[in-house]
Amino acid sequence: MDRNDELYKAGLLLHGHKCPAMPMGLRAGMAALEALGVERAQDGQLTALVEIDSDHCATCYADGVMMATGCTFGKGNIRKLGFGKFVLTLVDNKTGRSVRVATRNEVIKRNQESEFIQFRMKGVPASKIAAGLVDPAVDFILAEPTEKLFKIGPVQEMKLAPGRAHDFNTFICSECGEVAVERYARMKLGRVVCMPCAEKAQ
Ligand SMILES: [Zn+2]
Ligand SMILES: [Zn+2]
Repeated sequence: MDRNDELYKAGLLLHGHKCPAMPMGLRAGMAALEALGVERAQDGQLTALVEIDSDHCATCYADGVMMATGCTFGKGNIRKLGFGKFVLTLVDNKTGRSVRVATRNEVIKRNQESEFIQFRMKGVPASKIAAGLVDPAVDFILAEPTEKLFKIGPVQEMKLAPGRAHDFNTFICSECGEVAVERYARMKLGRVVCMPCAEKAQ
């Protein structure tokens, strides 16, 4: 895979800046799809569990995972486990088959030693770092053989709690006049209101 690959270009468009962590997520997602022998999720066929949290290095990883697997924030089939680790578990919801793809320590270390990260640590936004400094780190991630990037666990069964039924019913808040999904309706002084209005003082 290289920077001309359609999936990489789509990932870049979604993500917004060039960095090595987004492609790392792309490769992890592709490795997981391959291990399970499944296609990218058009609907909610797959669930992605990513072990990253927020406000730490390489969280951009999750955007690559979304792009590659089709498990997205909007569909609600990607979850952050909040462990601060660069690991993806992909689950095929119908069969319950899952695979855990852990980024190798050497790969993280190599990223952290890249010129790109040196600038990021000084507070330079990723989009302001010269492409020439980022490209080597990106090219490495895109081209490296899968087994050198990741430890890929055995395919094993994982039971996820079933999601709740899709709610299509809505109501209009009697205070702010905005529409909200019915199960989020609250009562306030005998009127049906949305959650933020319910919490507002009179
Ligand atoms: Zn990024
Ligand atoms: Zn309201």
